[in-house]
Order: sequence, then C-alpha cells, then structure tokens
Amino acid sequence: MRATIMHKAGDVRIETVLDAAILHPTDALIRVVRACICGSDLWPYNDMPSDGPARPMGHEAIGRVEAVGAEVRRIKIGDLVIMPFAYSDGSCMFCDEGLQTSCKHGGFFGQPDPGGAQAEALRIPLADGTLYPIDAPGDDTIMASLLTLSDVMGTGHHAALSARVAPGKVAAVIGDGAVGLCGVIAARRLGAERIIILGRHKDRLALARDFGATDVVSERGEDAVERVKALTKGEGAHSVLECVGAESAMATAIGIARPGGAIGRVGVPHYGNVAGGPRSFYDNLHIAGGPAPVRAYIDDLLPDILEGRIEPGRVFDRIVGLEDVPDGYRAMNERTALKVMVRP
Ligand SMILES: [Zn+2]
Repeated sequence: MRATIMHKAGDVRIETVLDAAILHPTDALIRVVRACICGSDLWPYNDMPSDGPARPMGHEAIGRVEAVGAEVRRIKIGDLVIMPFAYSDGSCMFCDEGLQTSCKHGGFFGQPDPGGAQAEALRIPLADGTLYPIDAPGDDTIMASLLTLSDVMGTGHHAALSARVAPGKVAAVIGDGAVGLCGVIAARRLGAERIIILGRHKDRLALARDFGATDVVSERGEDAVERVKALTKGEGAHSVLECVGAESAMATAIGIARPGGAIGRVGVPHYGNVAGGPRSFYDNLHIAGGPAPVRAYIDDLLPDILEGRIEPGRVFDRIVGLEDVPDGYRAMNERTALKVMVRP
C-alpha cells in the first residue's frame, strides 16, 4: 500500500510499504476515507534530524472498517468510523474518567507502531475502545467537519474547557491555526461573551470572526499583552486558550491572563522548560491542558455538527490525493494553506 513517510526535515515521501494488517485479536483494519495534515506534523517537517528512523505520518482520519480481529465486539466490518489521534482500550481507569490520552494500554498514531493515517489503510489497536462509529451522510461538508473530531475540534474544545470558558467570560485565543480557530468555535459554544483572537493571517482572522471572535489582536509579544489589557480595562482575559505550543506563546498567555484566570494549553510544547514562571504564581493562575482526550468529546460535539450548529470543517482550505501529500506539507509550511485534507 501507499503511505506517507517522513525521512528528515523537509523530506516527506509517499512510498510503497507493507500492507496494514490485523496483528492482534483486538485490532481493526480501516481503509482511510479522509485524513489530513496537522500543524504538529510541521514540527518534524522543520526539524527532524536525518540520523534517526523514518516515521509514518498522520494521526487524524475517518475510515471504513475492512476487517476486525477475533475479540472485537462493538466495531463491525463496513462501519464508517472516526479515528481519534490516540488509541485507547476504553476500559481502564483513565478511559473511564474521560482521559483516553492517558490510557494504560494506549498510544498515538503517526508512529512506527501502529503506523500513520496519511496512507491507504491503517491498523487500529484496541478498536472497540478507540473507534467511534458514525452514521452520517457521505456529504463532503459534513465529512470535513466530522474529520475535525479526530483532532482539531476536540483539541480546541479541550483548550476551552481547560481554560474554564463559561458564559459571560472573556476568552482569548492565541494562534490562528486550525486548533486556534476551533478554539474560537468552542469558546463561543461554551458561552464566552467576548472572544479575542491573537493572530496575524488575514484570511484566518476573517474565519475567526465568522466563528465568533469579537476582537482581533495582531501585535506580538509585549505589544500583544498591552493590547489585550487595553481591550479588557487593564484586567486581562478570564480564559486563555494557548493553541501554538511555542514558549513565546505561553509567555503571552501568562501575560494576558487576568489574576485568578485559567490557561488551557493544547499546542504541543516545542520547548523543554514547560513551566509558568513567577507571574503564574503571583497571579494565582490555573494552568491546565495537554493532549486532548478527543475520544471523550465526540458524544458532545457530534450533534452540533450533524445539526449544523458548528462548522469546524471550514478550516480545510485544500484537498489533495495521497500522492500529493508532500505538496500539502509544503503549502501548510509556507502558510499558503491553513489545513490540508487528504483523500486517498
Ligand atoms: Zn484506557
């Protein structure tokens, strides 16, 4: 089968690899119907060393189940399924608590084991716990939004929950990538009265406004902090959604959070020293967030998509076939595409 393999920074290829197959009785095999390229895929695209092992890419997908192992009970051949970016057994203590990304037997897609979703097919470990069967029309618009439930919409929602967004509050969203934009949708959905988006890309900010952002801040660093303070009577935001993952973004988050406020960070930290510094102490800030348990949020978010209340699929602005995935990486890296969908 054909699959996307990252060799080193700037070197991503579509290659013929061993066909995905059932290895364990709890596995399922899916044919990938839709996949996409994630902002976090751009980190290795920019700095993966050349001396390490190659890596299969892709952790977001909708698939059609082609085979199931002998112990799979809930998932059936022919099911259309959402594949969250982490696999999980659905039965351990952490899964019960809705934190499937900490599952005792779980792990992440886009690794040598179990493989990546930017491919024709993929083995799904712990299929009964991992996959979420959906009964949806094959409609392209709906499919785009459903695909966001495997990562970006669930991640934006996790940022909003971690930042304690609530009715009447001021939320600030750092980052105008797909997760930041989904964070705007989530903040509005949870009732934020004011939503300030921090970003610099004109088209993305226009989409953020469509999704419910009320204010735009395009300054950076200390200037951004001053601007948000000016917009909030000098107080700062109750809720800050950090959707970038750079150290500077976290510094901005701490700078614009109001005393007693909360920061939900969901950008994969691209720095070593993940801590808040003295301001987070003296301002009694709550700092939460991490890899989003998107599996837990599908129940909540799915009806809003199926009934048209939210349209996170609008973050996709380009569709490529599998052979053109490297072009998709290039476009996202050059910021000429916001988020690229893959139709194998
Ligand atoms: Zn578990």
